Amino acid sequence: KNELHIVGGGMAGSEAAWQAAQRGLNVVLHEMRPEVETFAHKTGKLGEMVCSNSFRSDDDEQNAVGLLHWEMRAAGGLIISTAGEYRLPAGGALAVDREAFADAITAKLTALDTVRVSHEEVTELPDQGQWIFATGPLTSARLGQAIQAETGADALAFFDAIAPIVYAESIDMEKAWLQSRYDKGETEDEQKAYVNCPMDRDQYEAFIDALLAADKTEFHEGETAGYFDGCLPIEVMAERGRETLRHGPMKPVGLTNPHQPDVKPHAVVQLRRDNALGTLFNIVGFQTKMKYGAQADVFRMIPGLAEARFARLGGIHRNTFLNSPTLLDAQMRLRSRPNIRFAGQITGVEGYVESSAMGLLAGRMAAAELLGTPLPEVPQDSAHGALIHHITGGAEAKTFQPMNVNFGLFRPVDGLKGGRRGRKDRYKAYTDRAKAAWSAWLDAQRTA
Ligand code: FAD
Repeated sequence: KNELHIVGGGMAGSEAAWQAAQRGLNVVLHEMRPEVETFAHKTGKLGEMVCSNSFRSDDDEQNAVGLLHWEMRAAGGLIISTAGEYRLPAGGALAVDREAFADAITAKLTALDTVRVSHEEVTELPDQGQWIFATGPLTSARLGQAIQAETGADALAFFDAIAPIVYAESIDMEKAWLQSRYDKGETEDEQKAYVNCPMDRDQYEAFIDALLAADKTEFHEGETAGYFDGCLPIEVMAERGRETLRHGPMKPVGLTNPHQPDVKPHAVVQLRRDNALGTLFNIVGFQTKMKYGAQADVFRMIPGLAEARFARLGGIHRNTFLNSPTLLDAQMRLRSRPNIRFAGQITGVEGYVESSAMGLLAGRMAAAELLGTPLPEVPQDSAHGALIHHITGGAEAKTFQPMNVNFGLFRPVDGLKGGRRGRKDRYKAYTDRAKAAWSAWLDAQRTA
Protein backbone atom coordinates (compact mmCIF):
# COMPACT_ATOMS: atom_id res chain seq x y z
CA LYS A 1 0.00 0.00 0.00
CA ASN A 2 1.13 3.53 -0.72
CA GLU A 3 3.85 2.04 -2.84
CA LEU A 4 5.60 4.05 -5.51
CA HIS A 5 7.89 2.55 -8.13
CA ILE A 6 10.63 4.76 -9.51
CA VAL A 7 12.72 3.67 -12.47
CA GLY A 8 16.20 5.21 -12.66
CA GLY A 9 18.37 6.18 -9.69
CA GLY A 10 20.05 9.19 -11.28
CA MET A 11 19.46 12.83 -10.39
CA ALA A 12 15.69 12.87 -10.84
CA GLY A 13 14.90 9.37 -9.57
CA SER A 14 16.99 9.80 -6.40
CA GLU A 15 15.32 13.13 -5.64
CA ALA A 16 11.84 11.79 -6.36
CA ALA A 17 12.47 8.78 -4.08
CA TRP A 18 13.61 11.07 -1.27
CA GLN A 19 10.63 13.41 -1.60
CA ALA A 20 8.15 10.54 -1.72
CA ALA A 21 9.75 8.77 1.24
CA GLN A 22 9.69 11.99 3.30
CA ARG A 23 5.94 12.05 2.72
CA GLY A 24 5.50 8.51 4.02
CA LEU A 25 5.42 6.42 0.85
CA ASN A 26 7.14 3.09 0.37
CA VAL A 27 9.44 3.38 -2.60
CA VAL A 28 10.94 0.73 -4.83
CA LEU A 29 13.78 2.29 -6.79
CA HIS A 30 14.64 0.26 -9.90
CA GLU A 31 18.14 1.00 -11.18
CA MET A 32 19.70 -1.07 -13.94
CA ARG A 33 23.33 -0.22 -13.17
CA PRO A 34 25.74 -1.87 -12.57
CA GLU A 35 24.15 -4.92 -14.29
CA VAL A 36 23.27 -2.93 -17.41
CA GLU A 37 25.63 -0.08 -18.27
CA THR A 38 25.36 3.18 -20.21
CA PHE A 39 28.22 4.65 -22.21
CA ALA A 40 28.60 7.51 -19.74
CA HIS A 41 28.01 6.12 -16.23
CA LYS A 42 30.98 4.42 -14.55
CA THR A 43 29.52 3.00 -11.32
CA GLY A 44 26.43 1.38 -9.85
CA LYS A 45 25.88 4.28 -7.44
CA LEU A 46 22.78 6.41 -7.16
CA GLY A 47 23.11 10.06 -8.17
CA GLU A 48 26.16 9.57 -10.36
CA MET A 49 27.27 12.70 -12.23
CA VAL A 50 28.24 11.54 -15.70
CA CYS A 51 30.37 14.43 -16.84
CA SER A 52 31.11 17.79 -15.22
CA ASN A 53 31.11 17.88 -11.40
CA SER A 54 29.31 21.23 -11.31
CA PHE A 55 25.74 22.16 -10.48
CA ARG A 56 26.48 25.52 -12.14
CA SER A 57 25.84 28.95 -10.64
CA ASP A 58 24.76 29.23 -7.03
CA ASP A 59 23.73 32.89 -7.41
CA ASP A 60 20.07 32.96 -6.40
CA GLU A 61 19.51 36.64 -7.26
CA GLN A 62 20.89 36.97 -10.79
CA ASN A 63 20.86 33.44 -12.17
CA ALA A 64 17.92 31.10 -12.90
CA VAL A 65 19.93 27.95 -12.02
CA GLY A 66 20.96 29.50 -8.71
CA LEU A 67 17.30 30.25 -8.11
CA LEU A 68 16.45 26.57 -8.67
CA HIS A 69 19.13 25.73 -6.06
CA TRP A 70 17.44 28.09 -3.62
CA GLU A 71 14.01 26.59 -4.25
CA MET A 72 15.26 23.02 -3.89
CA ARG A 73 16.99 23.90 -0.61
CA ALA A 74 13.77 25.43 0.69
CA ALA A 75 11.96 22.21 -0.26
CA GLY A 76 14.45 19.95 1.56
CA GLY A 77 15.94 18.59 -1.67
CA LEU A 78 18.29 15.62 -1.33
CA ILE A 79 20.49 16.43 -4.32
CA ILE A 80 21.05 20.08 -3.45
CA SER A 81 21.60 19.56 0.29
CA THR A 82 24.07 16.75 -0.37
CA ALA A 83 25.85 18.88 -2.97
CA GLY A 84 26.27 21.52 -0.27
CA GLU A 85 27.87 18.96 2.06
CA TYR A 86 30.47 17.91 -0.54
CA ARG A 87 31.10 21.31 -2.05
CA LEU A 88 34.51 22.11 -3.56
CA PRO A 89 35.86 25.63 -3.99
CA ALA A 90 34.69 26.82 -7.42
CA GLY A 91 34.01 30.56 -7.30
CA GLY A 92 30.31 31.26 -7.74
CA ALA A 93 29.57 27.73 -8.97
CA LEU A 94 28.39 24.80 -6.88
CA ALA A 95 30.94 22.08 -7.70
CA VAL A 96 31.20 18.86 -5.71
CA ASP A 97 33.42 15.88 -5.04
CA ARG A 98 31.50 13.52 -7.32
CA GLU A 99 32.55 10.23 -5.68
CA ALA A 100 31.70 11.38 -2.19
CA PHE A 101 28.50 12.93 -3.49
CA ALA A 102 27.22 9.72 -5.14
CA ASP A 103 28.29 7.65 -2.10
CA ALA A 104 26.28 9.96 0.15
CA ILE A 105 23.18 9.91 -2.07
CA THR A 106 23.34 6.12 -2.14
CA ALA A 107 23.84 5.89 1.62
CA LYS A 108 21.07 8.34 2.50
CA LEU A 109 18.50 6.55 0.35
CA THR A 110 19.45 3.00 1.32
CA ALA A 111 19.41 4.00 5.00
CA LEU A 112 15.66 4.63 4.79
CA ASP A 113 13.47 1.66 5.77
CA THR A 114 10.88 2.80 3.28
CA VAL A 115 13.17 2.77 0.26
CA ARG A 116 14.23 -0.46 -1.42
CA VAL A 117 16.72 -0.38 -4.28
CA SER A 118 16.27 -3.09 -6.86
CA HIS A 119 19.10 -3.40 -9.40
CA GLU A 120 17.30 -4.41 -12.57
CA GLU A 121 16.41 -3.04 -15.97
CA VAL A 122 12.72 -2.23 -16.43
CA THR A 123 11.68 -2.86 -20.03
CA GLU A 124 7.90 -2.24 -20.03
CA LEU A 125 5.43 0.44 -19.02
CA PRO A 126 3.37 -1.39 -16.37
CA ASP A 127 -0.46 -1.26 -16.31
CA GLN A 128 -0.69 -1.50 -12.54
CA GLY A 129 0.63 0.63 -9.70
CA GLN A 130 2.06 4.15 -9.52
CA TRP A 131 5.28 4.66 -11.43
CA ILE A 132 7.77 7.42 -12.12
CA PHE A 133 10.13 6.87 -15.05
CA ALA A 134 13.30 8.89 -14.59
CA THR A 135 15.59 6.96 -16.90
CA GLY A 136 17.37 9.96 -18.30
CA PRO A 137 19.14 10.82 -21.54
CA LEU A 138 20.57 7.30 -21.81
CA THR A 139 17.36 5.34 -21.22
CA SER A 140 18.03 1.70 -22.07
CA ALA A 141 17.21 0.63 -25.62
CA ARG A 142 14.55 -1.90 -24.64
CA LEU A 143 12.69 0.58 -22.47
CA GLY A 144 13.03 3.20 -25.22
CA GLN A 145 11.26 0.83 -27.60
CA ALA A 146 8.46 0.19 -25.11
CA ILE A 147 7.97 3.93 -24.60
CA GLN A 148 7.95 4.50 -28.35
CA ALA A 149 5.34 1.78 -28.80
CA GLU A 150 3.12 3.75 -26.43
CA THR A 151 3.82 7.29 -27.63
CA GLY A 152 4.43 6.76 -31.35
CA ALA A 153 7.82 7.01 -33.02
CA ASP A 154 7.70 10.78 -33.57
CA ALA A 155 7.11 11.59 -29.92
CA LEU A 156 10.26 10.04 -28.46
CA ALA A 157 13.60 11.29 -29.76
CA PHE A 158 16.97 9.58 -29.26
CA PHE A 159 19.07 12.63 -30.10
CA ASP A 160 18.67 16.27 -29.41
CA ALA A 161 19.77 18.70 -32.08
CA ILE A 162 19.66 21.98 -30.28
CA ALA A 163 19.87 25.21 -32.16
CA PRO A 164 21.08 28.14 -30.04
CA ILE A 165 18.32 30.09 -28.31
CA VAL A 166 18.53 33.87 -28.09
CA TYR A 167 16.71 36.27 -25.79
CA ALA A 168 14.36 38.28 -28.05
CA GLU A 169 15.22 41.54 -26.31
CA SER A 170 18.91 41.17 -27.21
CA ILE A 171 18.26 41.12 -30.99
CA ASP A 172 19.00 44.40 -32.81
CA MET A 173 15.81 45.10 -34.77
CA GLU A 174 17.47 48.08 -36.50
CA LYS A 175 19.33 45.43 -38.51
CA ALA A 176 16.91 42.48 -38.38
CA TRP A 177 13.25 42.39 -39.36
CA LEU A 178 10.13 40.28 -38.88
CA GLN A 179 8.86 38.32 -41.88
CA SER A 180 7.91 34.76 -42.79
CA ARG A 181 9.34 33.48 -46.06
CA TYR A 182 7.02 34.59 -48.91
CA ASP A 183 4.86 36.22 -46.19
CA LYS A 184 3.21 32.85 -45.66
CA GLY A 185 0.39 32.63 -43.14
CA GLU A 186 -3.23 33.67 -42.66
CA THR A 187 -2.78 36.25 -39.92
CA GLU A 188 -0.30 39.10 -39.60
CA ASP A 189 1.25 37.25 -36.65
CA GLU A 190 2.00 34.25 -38.88
CA GLN A 191 3.24 36.42 -41.74
CA LYS A 192 5.75 37.94 -39.33
CA ALA A 193 6.67 34.81 -37.40
CA TYR A 194 10.44 34.90 -38.04
CA VAL A 195 13.25 37.29 -37.23
CA ASN A 196 15.55 37.69 -40.25
CA CYS A 197 19.21 38.70 -40.14
CA PRO A 198 20.70 39.63 -43.55
CA MET A 199 24.28 39.06 -44.72
CA ASP A 200 26.12 40.49 -47.69
CA ARG A 201 28.71 38.42 -49.56
CA ASP A 202 31.67 39.49 -47.41
CA GLN A 203 29.82 38.85 -44.18
CA TYR A 204 28.75 35.42 -45.41
CA GLU A 205 32.26 34.43 -46.48
CA ALA A 206 33.73 35.58 -43.16
CA PHE A 207 31.02 33.64 -41.34
CA ILE A 208 31.81 30.42 -43.25
CA ASP A 209 35.53 30.88 -42.47
CA ALA A 210 34.72 31.28 -38.78
CA LEU A 211 32.51 28.18 -38.78
CA LEU A 212 35.23 26.08 -40.40
CA ALA A 213 37.91 27.35 -38.02
CA ALA A 214 35.91 27.08 -34.77
CA ASP A 215 36.75 24.54 -32.07
CA LYS A 216 34.38 21.56 -32.13
CA THR A 217 33.60 18.86 -29.58
CA GLU A 218 33.87 15.21 -30.48
CA PHE A 219 31.16 12.60 -30.06
CA HIS A 220 31.63 10.07 -27.27
CA GLU A 221 32.29 6.52 -28.25
CA GLY A 222 28.98 4.71 -28.77
CA GLU A 223 27.08 7.97 -29.03
CA THR A 224 26.49 8.41 -32.74
CA ALA A 225 24.50 5.34 -33.81
CA GLY A 226 21.53 6.43 -35.90
CA TYR A 227 22.35 10.09 -35.76
CA PHE A 228 23.07 11.71 -39.12
CA ASP A 229 19.53 11.77 -40.41
CA GLY A 230 18.26 15.25 -41.05
CA CYS A 231 20.07 17.12 -38.30
CA LEU A 232 23.52 17.86 -39.66
CA PRO A 233 25.58 20.30 -37.62
CA ILE A 234 25.93 23.61 -39.50
CA GLU A 235 29.70 23.33 -39.54
CA VAL A 236 29.41 19.93 -41.26
CA MET A 237 27.13 21.54 -43.86
CA ALA A 238 29.74 24.29 -44.32
CA GLU A 239 32.46 21.65 -44.77
CA ARG A 240 30.45 20.10 -47.60
CA GLY A 241 30.74 23.31 -49.62
CA ARG A 242 30.87 27.04 -49.07
CA GLU A 243 27.49 27.54 -50.76
CA THR A 244 25.66 24.72 -48.93
CA LEU A 245 24.30 26.88 -46.13
CA ARG A 246 23.21 29.58 -48.58
CA HIS A 247 21.07 26.94 -50.28
CA GLY A 248 19.96 25.44 -46.97
CA PRO A 249 18.99 27.13 -43.71
CA MET A 250 20.50 30.48 -44.79
CA LYS A 251 18.77 30.80 -48.15
CA PRO A 252 17.77 34.40 -48.85
CA VAL A 253 14.69 33.77 -51.03
CA GLY A 254 11.20 35.12 -50.31
CA LEU A 255 12.47 37.78 -47.93
CA THR A 256 12.79 41.56 -48.31
CA ASN A 257 14.82 43.65 -45.92
CA PRO A 258 12.73 46.75 -45.07
CA HIS A 259 15.86 48.56 -43.82
CA GLN A 260 17.42 48.24 -47.33
CA PRO A 261 14.60 47.25 -49.71
CA ASP A 262 16.79 47.68 -52.82
CA VAL A 263 19.62 45.41 -51.68
CA LYS A 264 19.11 41.69 -52.06
CA PRO A 265 20.73 39.88 -49.14
CA HIS A 266 23.34 37.27 -50.07
CA ALA A 267 22.18 35.04 -47.21
CA VAL A 268 19.66 35.31 -44.37
CA VAL A 269 19.77 33.75 -40.92
CA GLN A 270 16.27 33.11 -39.58
CA LEU A 271 15.18 32.87 -35.96
CA ARG A 272 11.92 31.25 -34.96
CA ARG A 273 9.84 31.91 -31.88
CA ASP A 274 10.59 29.32 -29.21
CA ASN A 275 7.97 29.90 -26.52
CA ALA A 276 4.45 31.21 -26.14
CA LEU A 277 5.68 34.26 -24.21
CA GLY A 278 7.70 35.35 -27.29
CA THR A 279 10.77 36.02 -25.14
CA LEU A 280 12.98 33.35 -26.78
CA PHE A 281 13.95 32.69 -30.41
CA ASN A 282 15.96 29.78 -31.82
CA ILE A 283 18.30 30.13 -34.81
CA VAL A 284 16.71 27.89 -37.41
CA GLY A 285 18.82 24.91 -38.51
CA PHE A 286 21.84 25.96 -36.44
CA GLN A 287 22.42 22.77 -34.42
CA THR A 288 26.15 22.51 -33.88
CA LYS A 289 29.03 20.68 -32.23
CA MET A 290 31.06 23.88 -31.87
CA LYS A 291 32.39 24.47 -28.37
CA TYR A 292 30.36 26.93 -26.30
CA GLY A 293 32.96 29.70 -26.29
CA ALA A 294 33.36 29.47 -30.06
CA GLN A 295 29.60 29.51 -30.63
CA ALA A 296 29.02 32.84 -28.94
CA ASP A 297 31.84 34.43 -30.98
CA VAL A 298 30.69 32.98 -34.29
CA PHE A 299 26.98 33.71 -33.82
CA ARG A 300 27.64 37.31 -32.77
CA MET A 301 29.08 37.85 -36.27
CA ILE A 302 25.50 37.61 -37.58
CA PRO A 303 24.14 41.11 -38.29
CA GLY A 304 21.50 41.85 -35.64
CA LEU A 305 23.04 39.40 -33.16
CA ALA A 306 26.18 41.39 -32.28
CA GLU A 307 24.86 41.89 -28.76
CA ALA A 308 22.90 38.64 -28.60
CA ARG A 309 22.54 36.91 -25.28
CA PHE A 310 21.96 33.19 -25.36
CA ALA A 311 19.40 31.40 -23.20
CA ARG A 312 21.19 28.26 -24.33
CA LEU A 313 23.85 27.42 -26.84
CA GLY A 314 23.54 24.75 -29.49
CA GLY A 315 24.47 21.09 -29.29
CA ILE A 316 23.87 17.60 -30.59
CA HIS A 317 23.86 14.75 -28.10
CA ARG A 318 22.56 11.31 -27.53
CA ASN A 319 19.45 12.13 -25.55
CA THR A 320 16.23 10.24 -25.10
CA PHE A 321 13.38 12.67 -24.53
CA LEU A 322 9.63 12.88 -24.91
CA ASN A 323 7.60 15.41 -26.78
CA SER A 324 6.27 16.45 -23.38
CA PRO A 325 3.99 19.29 -24.55
CA THR A 326 1.82 16.74 -26.37
CA LEU A 327 2.31 13.64 -24.16
CA LEU A 328 2.29 14.82 -20.55
CA ASP A 329 -0.38 16.54 -18.48
CA ALA A 330 0.44 19.35 -16.04
CA GLN A 331 1.24 16.69 -13.40
CA MET A 332 3.81 15.03 -15.69
CA ARG A 333 1.53 12.00 -16.14
CA LEU A 334 1.38 10.27 -19.47
CA ARG A 335 -2.02 11.34 -20.81
CA SER A 336 -2.62 7.88 -22.27
CA ARG A 337 -1.50 6.03 -19.08
CA PRO A 338 -2.02 8.23 -16.02
CA ASN A 339 -0.47 5.69 -13.61
CA ILE A 340 2.86 6.62 -15.23
CA ARG A 341 4.74 9.83 -14.60
CA PHE A 342 7.98 10.92 -16.16
CA ALA A 343 10.66 13.01 -14.49
CA GLY A 344 14.14 14.31 -15.18
CA GLN A 345 15.88 14.83 -18.47
CA ILE A 346 13.55 12.49 -20.36
CA THR A 347 10.80 15.11 -19.94
CA GLY A 348 12.80 17.62 -22.01
CA VAL A 349 14.74 19.53 -19.42
CA GLU A 350 18.51 19.55 -19.60
CA GLY A 351 21.13 19.29 -16.90
CA TYR A 352 21.66 17.86 -13.42
CA VAL A 353 19.90 20.71 -11.65
CA GLU A 354 16.85 20.90 -13.88
CA SER A 355 16.49 17.11 -13.83
CA SER A 356 16.67 17.00 -10.02
CA ALA A 357 14.05 19.76 -9.86
CA MET A 358 11.66 17.79 -12.04
CA GLY A 359 12.30 14.75 -9.81
CA LEU A 360 11.42 16.83 -6.77
CA LEU A 361 8.10 17.84 -8.32
CA ALA A 362 7.29 14.34 -9.57
CA GLY A 363 8.00 12.79 -6.15
CA ARG A 364 5.71 15.28 -4.44
CA MET A 365 3.01 14.93 -7.08
CA ALA A 366 3.01 11.14 -6.88
CA ALA A 367 2.92 11.24 -3.08
CA ALA A 368 0.00 13.66 -3.07
CA GLU A 369 -1.90 11.48 -5.50
CA LEU A 370 -1.31 8.24 -3.58
CA LEU A 371 -2.09 9.82 -0.21
CA GLY A 372 -5.15 11.67 -1.51
CA THR A 373 -3.86 15.06 -0.34
CA PRO A 374 -4.31 17.64 -3.07
CA LEU A 375 -1.15 19.43 -4.17
CA PRO A 376 -1.63 23.11 -4.95
CA GLU A 377 -0.65 24.03 -8.51
CA VAL A 378 3.09 24.68 -8.85
CA PRO A 379 3.35 28.49 -9.11
CA GLN A 380 4.35 29.53 -12.63
CA ASP A 381 6.43 32.40 -11.27
CA SER A 382 8.80 30.03 -9.44
CA ALA A 383 11.74 28.51 -11.32
CA HIS A 384 10.26 25.03 -10.90
CA GLY A 385 6.93 26.35 -12.17
CA ALA A 386 8.47 28.13 -15.16
CA LEU A 387 10.23 24.92 -16.20
CA ILE A 388 7.32 22.53 -15.76
CA HIS A 389 5.01 24.98 -17.46
CA HIS A 390 7.40 25.21 -20.40
CA ILE A 391 7.70 21.46 -20.93
CA THR A 392 4.04 20.60 -20.37
CA GLY A 393 2.45 23.53 -22.16
CA GLY A 394 4.44 26.66 -22.94
CA ALA A 395 6.91 25.27 -25.47
CA GLU A 396 6.21 24.85 -29.18
CA ALA A 397 5.41 21.13 -29.53
CA LYS A 398 6.55 20.94 -33.18
CA THR A 399 10.09 22.12 -32.53
CA PHE A 400 10.38 20.94 -28.93
CA GLN A 401 14.00 20.47 -27.81
CA PRO A 402 15.39 20.07 -24.29
CA MET A 403 15.66 23.26 -22.25
CA ASN A 404 17.81 24.66 -19.47
CA VAL A 405 16.15 26.88 -16.90
CA ASN A 406 16.55 30.56 -17.85
CA PHE A 407 14.78 33.86 -17.27
CA GLY A 408 13.25 33.78 -20.75
CA LEU A 409 10.85 31.15 -19.38
CA PHE A 410 9.52 33.59 -16.78
CA ARG A 411 6.54 35.87 -17.21
CA PRO A 412 7.80 39.43 -17.50
CA VAL A 413 7.61 41.59 -14.37
CA ASP A 414 5.59 44.74 -15.11
CA GLY A 415 6.92 48.25 -14.78
CA LEU A 416 10.64 47.54 -15.14
CA LYS A 417 13.10 49.05 -17.57
CA GLY A 418 14.00 46.92 -20.58
CA GLY A 419 17.41 46.47 -22.16
CA ARG A 420 20.82 45.85 -20.74
CA ARG A 421 20.64 48.58 -18.08
CA GLY A 422 17.56 47.24 -16.39
CA ARG A 423 18.69 43.61 -16.50
CA LYS A 424 20.08 43.38 -12.99
CA ASP A 425 16.92 44.87 -11.50
CA ARG A 426 14.78 42.65 -13.67
CA TYR A 427 16.53 39.45 -12.62
CA LYS A 428 16.33 40.48 -8.98
CA ALA A 429 12.61 41.11 -9.44
CA TYR A 430 12.14 37.66 -11.04
CA THR A 431 14.00 35.93 -8.22
CA ASP A 432 12.19 37.90 -5.47
CA ARG A 433 8.84 37.07 -7.03
CA ALA A 434 9.85 33.41 -7.49
CA LYS A 435 11.00 32.99 -3.89
CA ALA A 436 7.76 34.45 -2.54
CA ALA A 437 5.64 32.21 -4.78
CA TRP A 438 7.67 29.09 -3.99
CA SER A 439 7.64 29.74 -0.24
CA ALA A 440 3.87 30.18 -0.31
CA TRP A 441 3.52 26.91 -2.22
CA LEU A 442 5.64 25.04 0.34
CA ASP A 443 3.74 26.64 3.25
CA ALA A 444 0.42 25.58 1.78
CA GLN A 445 1.64 21.96 1.78
CA ARG A 446 2.85 22.17 5.38
CA THR A 447 -0.49 23.41 6.64
CA ALA A 448 -2.57 21.12 4.39
P1 FAD B 1 20.30 10.14 -15.13
O1 FAD B 1 21.00 10.90 -14.11
O2 FAD B 1 21.02 9.71 -16.35
O3 FAD B 1 19.65 8.88 -14.43
C1 FAD B 1 18.91 7.93 -15.15
C2 FAD B 1 19.12 6.57 -14.51
O4 FAD B 1 18.23 5.63 -15.10
C3 FAD B 1 20.53 6.05 -14.74
O5 FAD B 1 21.07 5.72 -13.49
C4 FAD B 1 20.32 4.83 -15.63
O6 FAD B 1 21.25 3.80 -15.33
C5 FAD B 1 18.92 4.42 -15.26
N1 FAD B 1 18.18 3.66 -16.30
C6 FAD B 1 18.10 3.92 -17.62
N2 FAD B 1 17.28 3.03 -18.24
C7 FAD B 1 16.83 2.19 -17.26
C8 FAD B 1 15.95 1.07 -17.26
N3 FAD B 1 15.36 0.64 -18.37
N4 FAD B 1 15.71 0.42 -16.09
C9 FAD B 1 16.29 0.84 -14.92
N5 FAD B 1 17.15 1.90 -14.89
C10 FAD B 1 17.40 2.59 -16.03
N6 FAD B 1 24.45 17.70 -17.26
C11 FAD B 1 25.05 18.70 -16.62
O7 FAD B 1 24.39 19.43 -15.84
N7 FAD B 1 26.37 18.95 -16.79
C12 FAD B 1 27.13 18.19 -17.61
O8 FAD B 1 28.32 18.42 -17.76
C13 FAD B 1 26.53 17.11 -18.32
N8 FAD B 1 27.24 16.32 -19.17
C14 FAD B 1 26.65 15.25 -19.76
C15 FAD B 1 27.41 14.39 -20.57
C16 FAD B 1 26.83 13.28 -21.15
C17 FAD B 1 27.65 12.37 -22.00
C18 FAD B 1 25.45 13.02 -20.96
C19 FAD B 1 24.80 11.82 -21.56
C20 FAD B 1 24.69 13.87 -20.17
C21 FAD B 1 25.27 14.99 -19.58
N9 FAD B 1 24.54 15.87 -18.77
C22 FAD B 1 25.15 16.89 -18.11
C23 FAD B 1 23.14 15.71 -18.57
C24 FAD B 1 22.90 15.00 -17.22
O9 FAD B 1 23.50 13.76 -17.30
C25 FAD B 1 21.47 14.88 -17.01
O10 FAD B 1 20.87 16.15 -17.05
C26 FAD B 1 21.08 14.28 -15.67
O11 FAD B 1 21.91 13.28 -15.25
C27 FAD B 1 19.69 13.78 -15.89
O12 FAD B 1 19.18 13.25 -14.71
P2 FAD B 1 18.15 12.05 -14.86
O13 FAD B 1 17.86 11.60 -13.48
O14 FAD B 1 17.03 12.45 -15.72
O15 FAD B 1 18.99 10.93 -15.65
